[in-house]
Amino acid sequence: MSSPLSPVTLIRNVRVPYGGADHAVDIAVEGDTITAVPPADRSAASTATAPGSYDGRGLLALPGLVNAHAHIDKSWWGLPWQSYGGEGTTEGRIRHERARRDEIGMPSVEITRRVLDQFVAHGTTALRTHVDVDLGLGLRGIEVVREALAAYGGALTAQIVAFPQDGVLRRPGVLALLEQAAREGVDHIGGLDPATIDRDPVGQIDALVGLSAEHGVGIDIHLHDPAELGAFQIELVLDRVERLGLEGRVTIAHGFAVAQLADSRRRDLLARMGEAGVTMTTVAPLRLPQLPLHELDEHGVAFAFGTDGVRDLWSPYGTGDLLGIAWQYARASSLVHDDDLRRVVEIATGAGAPFAGLPANELRVGDRADIVLIDAENPMDSLVRTPPREAVIAGGRLLVG
Ligand SMILES: [Zn+2]
Repeated sequence: MSSPLSPVTLIRNVRVPYGGADHAVDIAVEGDTITAVPPADRSAASTATAPGSYDGRGLLALPGLVNAHAHIDKSWWGLPWQSYGGEGTTEGRIRHERARRDEIGMPSVEITRRVLDQFVAHGTTALRTHVDVDLGLGLRGIEVVREALAAYGGALTAQIVAFPQDGVLRRPGVLALLEQAAREGVDHIGGLDPATIDRDPVGQIDALVGLSAEHGVGIDIHLHDPAELGAFQIELVLDRVERLGLEGRVTIAHGFAVAQLADSRRRDLLARMGEAGVTMTTVAPLRLPQLPLHELDEHGVAFAFGTDGVRDLWSPYGTGDLLGIAWQYARASSLVHDDDLRRVVEIATGAGAPFAGLPANELRVGDRADIVLIDAENPMDSLVRTPPREAVIAGGRLLVG
């Protein structure tokens, strides 16, 4: 066992996705960067335990998992079981959360650390988290999350979305909080169902786009609204992105509508989203159609997976295993071909890194030393079995193993 955050300089004898099945390599690391990936040196001298050397035992190495849609500020992980007592609608869940979060002590640095520990234990090395911003909390949740993240000393990479869970325009004062968060350095501002929560889609979207244009922050908007109502709001976003030159700044979270449109309508919308660099995140909802992998890839619409809230006041579900979400997506999408399964693993790992503000990662020289070791034959096998993570290295530091 190593102490947390101990630096790793050499990971010996692992297999990388781009090598052959039996092709073992060593991964040399300096600081947070991979500096060499030579064939494994199996000589006796190399296997002697040296400080900073980690024996990979022939395990499969993948780039660290990227959780592109989390809510680490609101969970009851580590507390006694909390029974859900709210109604089943989005509005009912928002009310239930606001009624109970104070007695639970939410948001708390300690619980947020526990959630992060769960993510890390399952191989996540980078994330984008929404953090509630509302009239009750102000920006306190963001401070809590920053403090919890600081304990990882920069090994974990995280982006923060200031998230107006209780609405924007319907709660006068929230827009000013989002602006303050933008001025104080959050990466993105969030939004929430502009039509059904604020009942003013043009107003909310104009407001968010205005803040993005003025402060240079991204927009990551929760959009649960279905089919045409959802598509209409995506089009409102696209109109403004195109008009103001905000390409590459917007993420649509969930975006259930995209998978619910008629084929030709969906393709047209995806083509426009691809052109505008609008990205998506999905939590692979069990009872809804999944985002179509081939069509998103074909139109250049980058998407990534997220756990969403884990064991929170909306739902007791979730383990923090991002690979499990990727499995759910692949299974629910009936993906069986190797190319597709491999692509899903890429999206869950190195191809998702830009969602946390990092360059894409393939575990090649120059890539960030965000690495998860798994006892699996190949990426496809790792996805369909989701075996335990044997070691997790983030930013060149050994966090698990
Ligand atoms: Zn969410």
